[in-house]
Amino acid sequence: MITSKKRVLVVGLDGATFDIITPLVRVGRLPTFAKLMKEGTWGNLKSTILPTTGPAWTSFMTGKNPGKHGVYGFYSFSKGTYETQIVTEHSIRTKKIWDYLDDERIGLLDIPLTFPPQEINGYMISGWPVPSEESIFTHPPELHTEIIREIGGFIVERPRNVLGYRQDKPIESLQNLYRYTDMRKEAALYLLRKKGPFDLFIVVFRGTDFIQHEAFKLFDEEYCKANPLIAKKFKEVIFQFYEKMDTILAELIQAMGNDAITIVMSDHGGGPMKKRFYINRWLKKEGFLSLKRYASSNSIHLSTKPFSAFLQKMGLSFFSPLLPTSVQNIQIPYPKLRRKHPSCLIDWKRTKAFANLTWTDEVIRINLWGREPEGIVRQEEYDAVREEIIEKLLGIVDPETGEAVIQRAYKREEIYHGPYVEDAPDILILTTETSYVFSPSLSEGVILERPLDPAPAPHRMEGIFFIHGEGIRADQVLTGLHIVDTTPTILYLMGKSIPDSMDGRVIAEAVEEEYFKKNPPTYHKEENGEIIKEQIEFSTAEQDSIKERLKALGYME
Ligand SMILES: [Zn+2]
Repeated sequence: MITSKKRVLVVGLDGATFDIITPLVRVGRLPTFAKLMKEGTWGNLKSTILPTTGPAWTSFMTGKNPGKHGVYGFYSFSKGTYETQIVTEHSIRTKKIWDYLDDERIGLLDIPLTFPPQEINGYMISGWPVPSEESIFTHPPELHTEIIREIGGFIVERPRNVLGYRQDKPIESLQNLYRYTDMRKEAALYLLRKKGPFDLFIVVFRGTDFIQHEAFKLFDEEYCKANPLIAKKFKEVIFQFYEKMDTILAELIQAMGNDAITIVMSDHGGGPMKKRFYINRWLKKEGFLSLKRYASSNSIHLSTKPFSAFLQKMGLSFFSPLLPTSVQNIQIPYPKLRRKHPSCLIDWKRTKAFANLTWTDEVIRINLWGREPEGIVRQEEYDAVREEIIEKLLGIVDPETGEAVIQRAYKREEIYHGPYVEDAPDILILTTETSYVFSPSLSEGVILERPLDPAPAPHRMEGIFFIHGEGIRADQVLTGLHIVDTTPTILYLMGKSIPDSMDGRVIAEAVEEEYFKKNPPTYHKEENGEIIKEQIEFSTAEQDSIKERLKALGYME
């Protein structure tokens, strides 16, 4: 019998794209995806603007545009400074889908921006940014040691654990990526088999995105010609990873149970990089940004090291045991270079606009008087400055190809609506096919460059969406889907009322007509489902670890 309260399994494959799936399905390499296509309904899923992991998964969790949830990237600007802070679960200022489920049993695993964990009716393993294995990142807290008992370990997402593009040991990091992926699979299967049944189970695998950032360069003929050995050895690596995910999918679907609805989705797509675009150098050339005349990016400060460390550095460590411990431990002062925050290099009195100084996001911020610490653009000039920048951005052409570099540039209020629009960057930019990667560098140099190693590859706007199960139409291709549509659709399938504050819609065309007629969606009024929490304070070591990871993925410089 078809009930109107369905159990739902959501498998998120970060960054997954039909550009990889469709050709592999065609040659029979992805049997589970093929089955989902044939027996279910599927289509492209539009990401948020910008198509980045933080805002996109948050729009999935909330069913709302970033103007209503307040997450625009992996960071937010710290009010009254030019510095940024890393976003966490506490940065999401509205209810998430599981906040609407009271009696239902829930399992959540590795969804980005779910640290620290919430006390839900079920089990939760937080996703990015979990600082270390010592942090409490599961609910209940003892679930972590239970998972260790069951599957032997659980590493969080940290530098060198998984694939990152600045790694000089590709085989080791590939092994780590599979190990990291298997741990998520084993943890999900353990929860599903031993703690189920779940009414809603969501698990996100980040590996698809990690491997694409690194390996999309192997789709680039020029790179392969210059690096024939790497090209030969690693050319299958993305395809092989999707095959791995296909097998995992089959296992998860089976463990959840045949009566459940399966949704497989991504937060955005991915594809090769064309060129790097040095946005701050461009702003400087156009006269919107000025550097201090004698600015240096480094400052010298005195640090100390024990005498034994000096001996070691000079190759004289055999001396150490001959010296009394008190001498070995004598602290010797030595000068050390410290990198200053790049904002120290900018002459703010002569700067109207700047792009991110440490992040590779495609955004521009106006140096607005009254908002920025040394703002100079008056409120009455704000719009004109934005318009001038946008017009100039749209005119940038790649001299080698004649192609426009920027496809669209938006004022924030054109794409976002809600109480937190004012926290958004002032201008948001989509490059042509999102294939130009912004670099925040302030140093002298070219504006457009094809790097020798075109990594990390960027995201694309089009993600994936599959839905399969009883009551879902078969062999249908859908168009016009947006990531915010997934949330009300899941609530609808679970027989829950949908808050009218959500921006998404129920994907009715995926549901069998008769089922939909018998079970029309119900809605209730809600202002914004606002939740305000104190921001998390990470220790310096925790912040460094998180930043190192973001650098390895290419999100920071
Ligand atoms: Zn992502």
